[in-house]
Amino acid sequence: MADACIIDGKKFSAELQEDIKQRTNILKKEHKIIPGLATVLVGEDPASEVYIKNKEKRITEVGMVSYGKRLPKDISEKDLLAVIGTLNKNPDINGILVQLPLPHQIFEKNIIASINAHKDVDGFHPLNVGALSNGNEGLVPCTPRGCMILIDSVCRDLTSKTAVIVGRSNIVGKPLAQLLLRANCTVTVAHSHTKDLPDLCRSADILIAAAGQPEMIKGDWIKPKAIVIDVGINRKKTQNGTNRLVGDVDFEKALKVAEAITPVPGGVGPMTIACLLENTLIACCLQNGVKVPDA
Ligand code: NAD
Repeated sequence: MADACIIDGKKFSAELQEDIKQRTNILKKEHKIIPGLATVLVGEDPASEVYIKNKEKRITEVGMVSYGKRLPKDISEKDLLAVIGTLNKNPDINGILVQLPLPHQIFEKNIIASINAHKDVDGFHPLNVGALSNGNEGLVPCTPRGCMILIDSVCRDLTSKTAVIVGRSNIVGKPLAQLLLRANCTVTVAHSHTKDLPDLCRSADILIAAAGQPEMIKGDWIKPKAIVIDVGINRKKTQNGTNRLVGDVDFEKALKVAEAITPVPGGVGPMTIACLLENTLIACCLQNGVKVPDA
């Protein structure tokens, strides 16, 4: 059997980013509006700093304005809520992204719920979560949306396909289940208490791995010709002591069985930021009562 097609997330992300740049330009020319995104980082976690700088860079690349907010790690929940309140009121800011995780003194759910739902470009606010589950318009979480674009690149019609998602987090597994249901898949969400996971995975036409467990999904857990989307990002020590990024799927083995598969790195990861840019554009148009420029 031929090796699986490797779905190039970098390519699709670059295409989406270019598309958003053009649509942002149309918005500027036709309506004199420039979308703005506030990125809030609490503390100095090096990984979070890298993520947030990357987001800020990409925002400016598409012609939007980035408003970076750096806050001390010992900020109280009350003070952080006050910062969010100010950003909510600022009409130049169309999207608010609070980098997670937050320090232990802050209850994340309170912060997420305090963001104006129309500016919630992460799609984590309860109103957007509800909209996703009952089929209303709302802002959709970026990583699941990115997964759907990658799946669509290899399979246009998902009707009647069996999808298994390994992982039930609020940011990946659960919202992705809603999007796959909307696409007429039959969806099962597995988690750490699921029995007979290998067998369940073998039933999937579309297998999504989002457990955060390095190379947990073996080649013989994959149905021949399945589409495999690997969301996991894990650091693995190599024999020479350096770190290597791996996904949740044993990529080399899966390549021999699947029809199409995303690599790590270079698969789902790059799509997440591109979808954040798209959400910022959508949020900006909704707040200004203008139609989102066509792609
Ligand atoms: P999480 O820790 O919040 O959730 C993990 C889920 O996996 C849980 O529901 C848990 O029950 C399940 N799980 C854990 N071990 C399991 C096992 N052995 N068998 C079955 N289920 C198991 O994680 P998350 O935030 O959803 O992230 C998951 C992975 O995706 C991580 O590696 C994370 O780094 C990555 N991630 C990538 C992106 C991206 O942009 N590519 C975005 C978000 C998360």
